[in-house]
Amino acid sequence: MPSEPRGSAAAPPAADVERLAAAVRARDRRALAKAITLVESVRADHQEAAQRLLELLLPHAGQAARVGVSGVPGAGKSTFIEAFGLYLLGLGKRVAVLAVDPSSARSGGSILGDKTRMPRLAAAADAFIRPSPSAGSLGGVTRRTREAMIVCEAAGHDVVLVETVGVGQSEVAVASMVDFFLVLLLPGAGDELQGLKKGIIELADALAVNKSDGDTVQRAELAAAQYTGALHLFRHTSEHWDPPVLTISALEARGMDRVWAVIEQHRAVLGASGELADKRRAQQQAWLWSMLRDGLERQFLDRADVQRLLPEMERAVARAELTPTQAARRLLALLGAPSDDGVPARRSRHARAG
Ligand code: GDP
Repeated sequence: MPSEPRGSAAAPPAADVERLAAAVRARDRRALAKAITLVESVRADHQEAAQRLLELLLPHAGQAARVGVSGVPGAGKSTFIEAFGLYLLGLGKRVAVLAVDPSSARSGGSILGDKTRMPRLAAAADAFIRPSPSAGSLGGVTRRTREAMIVCEAAGHDVVLVETVGVGQSEVAVASMVDFFLVLLLPGAGDELQGLKKGIIELADALAVNKSDGDTVQRAELAAAQYTGALHLFRHTSEHWDPPVLTISALEARGMDRVWAVIEQHRAVLGASGELADKRRAQQQAWLWSMLRDGLERQFLDRADVQRLLPEMERAVARAELTPTQAARRLLALLGAPSDDGVPARRSRHARAG
């Protein structure tokens, strides 16, 4: 494979990529982990091999139920994923757990999808757990998780659970890569709706009030009734689907059958109406656009002339000497000129002067 001998391991040659793809499809766990490591690598030569690998695997992916699991820290996500995963294994399903946690880039370690939080599931032969990729922006983390999902599906996993922290844009990112988005809630006392962000509820295909056990059962039931009432105020994910509100106990592994029944029902309803296929097509196109945006931004920011002018424009906008529109125009005008000196101007050199 091409030059770029920087970094530690060399990129695998083409024949190795084909062997790796075959081993993934043969459900070799080590190959699965290795393939995902390749997909997650930020090195250009690794990325080239990764994209070839994905090309080989893509025709064998897509059959899994893709389920997003969200909820504020402490809602019980890892307890739920362990209990639900074990339930699915009991049904003979193969389960993969992935995660999107952009904060892991800052903290240096991944919190979500950590094996130590799901010890029994992690030990099971038919389960595969992968923590959130920690490198890069939310867009980068999301892309790697999406691509890891393809690898897991090609390795024959029937259900892919994608965990996300219940804050910020990572919810939207996960909702945009799954068929079904589950939001776990706490059986809070009193104003149940206070923590309910409109945006998140509108993404939900089901709500599950967790910790419905011991002396919390009644409170959980009450909360569920309030959520059910309130859901009418929100826009739904599909006109054919009323998001149900369940009460579950992840700790006691109760309600796992109902959660799965709801997911299967959703697949049946949206499958019959064609919405599921439409949704996946739309997700693929949105993914293409997000990659285009990322790529354009990177190419733009890599230009030496942009790097020189940008700080000046930022200052001018901050001091109200230029409007943001004027500053943006001046920066974008650089795209019309061939990129000058130095830094990675590889592609832009081909750009036509305007
Ligand atoms: P996460 O931060 O959303 O992943 O939440 P965890 O799964 O780590 O759970 C947070 C805490 O809530 C832990 O102490 C769990 O033992 C507890 N917990 C999780 N699910 C339940 C449940 O169904 N019932 C009860 N009583 N406690 C639970």
